[in-house]
Amino acid sequence: MPDAPTSELAAPELAPLESAPLDLAGAYWPGVERGSRRLLVVPVGSLEQHGPHLPLDTDTRIAAAVARRACAGRAGVALAPPLPVGASGEHADFPGTLSIGTDALTSCLIELGRHASLHWPALLLVNGHGGNVAAVQTAVGRLRDEGRDCASWHAELPDGDSHAGRSETSIMLALCPDAVRLDAAERGDVRPLASILPLLRAHGVRAVSANGVLGDPAGASAAEGRLLLTRLADSLNAAIEGLVERRRG
Ligand SMILES: [Zn+2]
Repeated sequence: MPDAPTSELAAPELAPLESAPLDLAGAYWPGVERGSRRLLVVPVGSLEQHGPHLPLDTDTRIAAAVARRACAGRAGVALAPPLPVGASGEHADFPGTLSIGTDALTSCLIELGRHASLHWPALLLVNGHGGNVAAVQTAVGRLRDEGRDCASWHAELPDGDSHAGRSETSIMLALCPDAVRLDAAERGDVRPLASILPLLRAHGVRAVSANGVLGDPAGASAAEGRLLLTRLADSLNAAIEGLVERRRG
């Protein structure tokens, strides 16, 4: 990815959203009942170490921000508060990480989906953490088997930069620069995720990367983060369109 011009780097603000989605956390039930209800979007995050320079809730912030951008201006789409803890067993050796594991997360998402289907015709899980993928996919499969309209979307970042590297650092610089400790940022293990996955699964991230970073935050910028956010939001937008179209058709 080319480096952005310096002038752009000086303005980390994101463009304002055209119109905010219905925020479920701040809504009142009579309003929800009266309003149109086509799709409920639930961000699924994690609370896990993100190197010495990014906060533990990085995945949650990214999932929620992408969801908010993709939901903006869509009638009948409501945004639920993000699930703040996911399946992060591979980061367990780093203090601060909290995980409920794949089985509990799967059950949680299935129950959430069953409940959501009482009042919404469709559910979309917006996942911000690679370790949640198995739980999200299993839950979506079960909910569909039960006849519920449900889909998932996963925030995918460039390979070799999977955790607290340049991409996530850039996105966080775009979203919340005050939460990024650039002076503490360090290079981690830069091998492609696929090549270290067996070791990572068997012994956890700390056995592979002492500082918890998989990738290299060097070169991260708010401008690059805005670009990545736009790409992620476009991809999520397409998934939402597909879901809404499928219901129309
Ligand atoms: Zn992350």
